[in-house]
Amino acid sequence: MVSNRQLFFDNLAQTSGFPLGLEIERASGCWLYSPEGKSYLDLIAGVSVSNIGHNNPSVISAIKAQVDTHLHLMVYGEFIQKPQVRLAEMLCRLLPDDLNSVFYTNSGSEAVEGAIKLSRRYTGRHEIISFTNAYHGSTLGALSVTGNETQKRAFRPLIPSVRHIDFNCVSSLSEISHDTACVIVEPVQGEAGIILPEDGFMHKLRKKCDEQGALLIFDEIQTGFGRTGRLFAMDLFEVVPDIVVFAKSLGGGLPLGAFISSKEIMTSLSNNPDLGHITTFGGHPVSSAAGLASLKYIIEKDIVSNTEQKGLLFKRLIDHQFVIGVRGVGLLMAVELEEGSIVKRLIKKCIEKGLLTDWFLFNEKCFRISPPLIISEKEIEFACNIILESLNEI
Ligand code: PLP
Repeated sequence: MVSNRQLFFDNLAQTSGFPLGLEIERASGCWLYSPEGKSYLDLIAGVSVSNIGHNNPSVISAIKAQVDTHLHLMVYGEFIQKPQVRLAEMLCRLLPDDLNSVFYTNSGSEAVEGAIKLSRRYTGRHEIISFTNAYHGSTLGALSVTGNETQKRAFRPLIPSVRHIDFNCVSSLSEISHDTACVIVEPVQGEAGIILPEDGFMHKLRKKCDEQGALLIFDEIQTGFGRTGRLFAMDLFEVVPDIVVFAKSLGGGLPLGAFISSKEIMTSLSNNPDLGHITTFGGHPVSSAAGLASLKYIIEKDIVSNTEQKGLLFKRLIDHQFVIGVRGVGLLMAVELEEGSIVKRLIKKCIEKGLLTDWFLFNEKCFRISPPLIISEKEIEFACNIILESLNEI
């Protein structure tokens, strides 16, 4: 019989010439298992998806219950479906007051597309500002606001009227003007290698947007739901955006995205034209049921409160001559090495030893630490020992 590995390379479209190519048969908590029974401790969490670990029993039983009830019924926005409305209610209750209207999508890129359209429709303006080295997704609109030319060049022309300014550069905020529909920003830049805003930067950005009447969009796709040691990264700075975008961990392991704004702003998408934004599968009932169970678990088990401590433990234990620093917040971290050339070798070594870590799209000197938030101290020690051992061996 042809192996699954062979089929992966023969029949699955590849995203690069160097996929991790690991075959995983099952997963539980912070661990992934190969068909041969090899175990891997997961420091990637599907890139900030599996915040409460793999196959959390509450999520699995919510999925099973929903599967027994109904699957897709109708395009988004027409029928009242319990998992969708209950999850939306909970999100709105946990978010600041003005973020009280949820539009579901299937993915992060789609949620970014929706947020961009909403800001253009609401303001009647066309210009969009985003940041150098930001990652917002791979569809044409989301790629247009992504701030890395290597990633974009081959696909031009992208959507017009997009400009990029430098993250943490206060003087560049003067580019935001009365023509600006929105500014989209990751409150902590992910694929740039976990770059935090400097003190006051987010407040200054908020103020400038207010002065110019531009909407502020937070892309919390990677930072959402406890990853930064706060339920939402916006809580780190106490800055409230006009629109927030979620995906990744929102669905508790199933595909789900959302852009969330005020009722007043959101209403502009449902008239002139009617159906200004529509989706067939956005807010799929099974994904919404999984998302609701996951969010309830995060709140009820207070998953967020230990995240900061766990991040600090990683920072303390990863002490090595090749390491320039461990940067980040909560369990969203980048380990910066002296030389980019060792990052890929290190990742390979760690995988051989049963530890999964990953590189960043726009920062070749760093590797990623973003495990499930339920990781234990013992597992952190296990991970750090493998990292140090691997650094010694390369
Ligand atoms: N925005 C951020 C900050 C992301 O990290 C990602 C994915 O990595 C996206 C948007 C795109 O999300 P998706 O891959 O679900 O389209």
